[in-house]
Amino acid sequence: MKVLVINCGSSSLKYQVLDMRKETLMCKGLVERIGMEGSVLTQEKIGVDEKKVIETPIADHKVAMKQVIAALLDQDYGVLKDLEEVGAVGHRVVHAGERYSESVLIDNSVIEVLKECIELAPLHNPPNLLGINACRELMPNVPMVAVFDTAFHQTMPPESYIYAIPYKYYDKYRIRRYGFHGTSHKYVAERAAILLGVSLYDLKLITCHLGNGASVSAIKRGRCIDTSMGFTPLSGLAMGTRSGSVDPAIIQFVAEKEKKTMEEVLDILNKESGMLGVSGVSSDFRDLDEEVQNGNVRAELALKVFAHRVRYYIGAYYLEMNGLDGIVFTAGVGENDTTMREIICNELGNLGIKLDLVKNKVRGREAIISRDDSRVSIMMIPTNEELMIARDTYNIARNMGFDPAK
Ligand code: ADP
Repeated sequence: MKVLVINCGSSSLKYQVLDMRKETLMCKGLVERIGMEGSVLTQEKIGVDEKKVIETPIADHKVAMKQVIAALLDQDYGVLKDLEEVGAVGHRVVHAGERYSESVLIDNSVIEVLKECIELAPLHNPPNLLGINACRELMPNVPMVAVFDTAFHQTMPPESYIYAIPYKYYDKYRIRRYGFHGTSHKYVAERAAILLGVSLYDLKLITCHLGNGASVSAIKRGRCIDTSMGFTPLSGLAMGTRSGSVDPAIIQFVAEKEKKTMEEVLDILNKESGMLGVSGVSSDFRDLDEEVQNGNVRAELALKVFAHRVRYYIGAYYLEMNGLDGIVFTAGVGENDTTMREIICNELGNLGIKLDLVKNKVRGREAIISRDDSRVSIMMIPTNEELMIARDTYNIARNMGFDPAK
């Protein structure tokens, strides 16, 4: 069965086609600037060097989906002869509230739940829904599966997800910690178990998804018991442009001093804070590394703040799980920034966490990067959220009796 994976943002649509017989990626693509001037579709057929770039007006997500289908079917740069070859479509959906702890086959009742969750993820769920609706219209007979960012974290115990605010706000508005990047945390935890040759159900892991957005999770015997993001993806670690957790009183203080509304201050915490805010130069860790080489002390401070927060969570989760078998680094920074991994793991030997500085030079492939005498295994594992979405989609479609031979 071939599975189409769709990840819709407000003005973008990322997609991949995977052949699930051997889980091989066939092509991937991106539609950018949907509903704006200069819309463009870029498609990369695996095994072909040149990317196909199509510049064409794309007014909305339905037009984008039509263009994606046309590109997939193209004789030269496409990978499908007939749309019938697509056995199922998997959609990344950010927020399922408390409703789903696993991926689900999409039907009208699921759509209703996703609509209800719009108020919890106003930036993310609406474009996710647009993508689902466009696909359902254009491929009405193909099973669609929703894979949620929040689902993996639904196993957290109440003491991890309840905020110490009046309980009625949880009852009335469902204000609680949800956590995000769940698909990535789950994927790398499963890979870590394979890499270590130990069942996931015998492991205590801390997974560090460090990208533009960043979060850390505590995974005990395969279940997430805590995670650093909260009600929204703004909390927890300091990130590229996001502040992470701050004293909430700062919001009112800044609003008053700077004559800004609450919304404007939240926008600053989302878009002008984090690495960008502290360094004053960039949210990109590559730029910051370069700035540090040139003696920029604020860039150095930003990176130290980042590492400090990651270490803080590693310490907390180590205690919470009463032990630790492995730490996993993943996503843009976690996979590539060897210096950041060094700073994070520096001087943790007494806790049995010893990074091997030579093995740490690895890039682009899964590896154990701790010293042989390290009690805790440190791993670098490239994330693959699309594969995870495709797997869930394939399994659900197959279990529902859809033809796996297609
Ligand atoms: P997201 O999916 O959240 O947008 P990614 O996981 O793709 O983010 O991570 C993007 C970040 O990864 C960039 O901001 C960049 O700072 C960092 N990054 C990518 N490559 C490197 C590298 N070679 N060295 C350091 N940081 C890197």
